[in-house]
Amino acid sequence: MSTDDVRSVDPRVADLIGAEEGRRADTVSLVASEVVSTPAVRAALASEFGDKYAEGYPGRRYQGGCEVADELEELATARARDLFGAQYANVAPLSGSAASQAVYAAFAQPGDAVLALSLRHGGHQTHGSRANFSGRWFTPVSYQVEMAGERIDYDLLRESAMFHKPRILVAGGSGYSRHIDFAAMRSIADEVGCVLWIDAAHIAGLSIAGIGPSPTDFADVVTVSTQKIMRGPRGGVILARAEHADALSRAVYPFLQGGPNMAAIAAKAVAFAESSTPAYREYAQQVVANASALAARLVEGGMRVVSGGTDNHLAVVDVTRSGLSGRAAADALAAAGIVVDKAVLPFDPAPVAQGSAIRVGTPTVTANGLGVDDMVVLADRILDVLAGAKQ
Ligand SMILES: *Cc1c(COP(=O)(O)O)cnc(C)c1O
Repeated sequence: MSTDDVRSVDPRVADLIGAEEGRRADTVSLVASEVVSTPAVRAALASEFGDKYAEGYPGRRYQGGCEVADELEELATARARDLFGAQYANVAPLSGSAASQAVYAAFAQPGDAVLALSLRHGGHQTHGSRANFSGRWFTPVSYQVEMAGERIDYDLLRESAMFHKPRILVAGGSGYSRHIDFAAMRSIADEVGCVLWIDAAHIAGLSIAGIGPSPTDFADVVTVSTQKIMRGPRGGVILARAEHADALSRAVYPFLQGGPNMAAIAAKAVAFAESSTPAYREYAQQVVANASALAARLVEGGMRVVSGGTDNHLAVVDVTRSGLSGRAAADALAAAGIVVDKAVLPFDPAPVAQGSAIRVGTPTVTANGLGVDDMVVLADRILDVLAGAKQ
């Protein structure tokens, strides 16, 4: 199986695959949500399982011929439970967002209040953005970071929870660079009597390597995207306490999904095995060391990093001092072969489309073998490009 099989029937798409390979080879990706999946994961994704229809769950399928698929899904599920220390795991969600939808479906009714970190402060669109189903069908309420330290304001969060009495309290996001105090959030959820959902899409790969608190120790339900730091296939996983098993299983199928992607489930099983090895733990530690080194060097070079640094794989870098918008900074870096996301600051005066920040992350560069010394070189290159782009 190779691009040649595509080329013989579809040269246009084969060319595009080649162009994407070229783009990847010629650029450095600091996109925080991306990584390079492992060869074993990619092989499993391309396997026969991709053709298999298996609606339902092991032993309770709609289609025939599911005996091997059943064994596979049971294996993947058991590995997920072990890896994350969870009583219940569901490996069928087609993506992290699909896993999020299942959480809403299992725990909330339309109109219920959901309290989550503001999108501008590092949250995620599935946590109540008006443009997303979560903000349309539920009542979004948000908490923020403190203006001074730019870390989550747990006192204000508690007050907000007491006032709004949310059905679900959400921890996690895609632009927050500090460990989250899950214990504090658990106690707030208990005080209010709501469900604590930890959206660990980004950080799951770090947690399993022992970096930061383990979400399953605190949450009622945890969601994960396997294509991020875990280096697995594009897909979602739900982990929960046993008492929520039925509600979550029914929410994924039949409420939200038809057949699962069995090839993705095969690849998830592989990723779970790979990420329980010492080599993976080393990788995850290097991801974090690299992010710290990158952020520290950018600060040395005169940039401001939100909250002053990072505990995880990403940093949000304020580029206002370079005289550029986040968008202009991202464009200038892209032209120099460094791919980043434009981002907003927690209290950004600029419109979202411009932003005053870039978000950088180290999963991909680390997967490509770069270390702390390389991060210093990379940070210096970023500083040069931004200085050169200044009007
Ligand atoms: C990436 C992400 C998701 C969505 O995951 P997909 O797999 O892209 O659907 C959900 N929540 C957070 C916090 C994320 O970072």
